[in-house]
Amino acid sequence: MTTYNFSSGPAVLPRDVLLQVQQELTDWHGSGMSVMEMSHRGPEFTQIITEAEADLRAVLAIPANYKVLFLQGGAHFQFGMIPLNLTQPGDTVDYVNTGSWSKTAIKEAQRYANVNIVASSEDRNFSYVPDEAGWQRSANAKYLHYCSNETIGGVEFPFIPQSDVPLICDMSSNILSQPLDVSRYGLIYAGAQKNIGPSGMTIAIIREDLIGHARAEVPTMLNYKTHADASSLYNTPPSFAIYVAGLVFKWLQKNGGLDAMARHNATKAALVYDAIDGSGGFYRAPVSGACRSRMNVPFWLKDAALDAEFLQGAEAAGLVQLKGHRSVGGMRASIYNAMPLEGVQALVAYMADFARRHG
Ligand SMILES: *Cc1c(COP(=O)(O)O)cnc(C)c1O
Repeated sequence: MTTYNFSSGPAVLPRDVLLQVQQELTDWHGSGMSVMEMSHRGPEFTQIITEAEADLRAVLAIPANYKVLFLQGGAHFQFGMIPLNLTQPGDTVDYVNTGSWSKTAIKEAQRYANVNIVASSEDRNFSYVPDEAGWQRSANAKYLHYCSNETIGGVEFPFIPQSDVPLICDMSSNILSQPLDVSRYGLIYAGAQKNIGPSGMTIAIIREDLIGHARAEVPTMLNYKTHADASSLYNTPPSFAIYVAGLVFKWLQKNGGLDAMARHNATKAALVYDAIDGSGGFYRAPVSGACRSRMNVPFWLKDAALDAEFLQGAEAAGLVQLKGHRSVGGMRASIYNAMPLEGVQALVAYMADFARRHG
């Protein structure tokens, strides 16, 4: 039986990539070494990281005036690095609050800067993206921060905000899911473990003019300039994670790039939302309309007493890690790039069958 993994992260990776990793695990390209065992300054790893960056630049069409940084510390580190690198004490920054991850980013930024919340969807339990026309921008913000896909709430921005100040985005859970105009942003960051590769690595794509303005007391490792100047090799990088991510970038290219991913993801998301909306109320989604996430689909059963049985039956059918986040309850199907169409088809067939048996 095939297992389909709906985890929100660390999440499913392309099977072809895992098989290649397995094949190369003890002997990378005839070197006699595993990537785990190589000097990060040797010729083999130099080739791996150079190709990974070049392939990511190609896939995302990253303009030449942006640096690509392979960092550690997860997206959480970025919550602090951003204000420490882009503000001085007393500065004001603008944040949009659309859910759990926005809130965590805001809380950390408040330790270093005056945070103005331009808009919040907390009034309706983070089930929508506030209309951009009503955002209350500050006159002197150093940047505008938002989270393009709230992994827990299942809310995704259907637009890129307009901004005269550098636009900063936490793209941890929807980067590489569709084509992107990188030039609209000052800084994009994403933890790898959703749509890129293994945990332990965070990618930052930063416009060059935003590098070199960190506060004097910022630790060396938390200064973007340190990593930009050293091409992500200031210290030992997460080498194995970079290697696997590089294979994922090649997999994306081989499978039609981000245009093909956008179609693939739209098809999968439509299948799941149609299954929910067409269930006659047996299943319900907390999010409606254009800001439904294509990556993370939270949904509730009409009777929460059936949750345990739903999960048990799903697991028996090879559909794993469907339990929703504790703050939302119910189920959550995360259907990132690497989730095959067959996995989503198996999920909606199971949902229909379960509803029939309990409706
Ligand atoms: C998972 C996630 C995070 C947290 O990532 P860590 O790597 O665990 O720090 C932050 N933001 C979003 C949108 C996420 O999905």
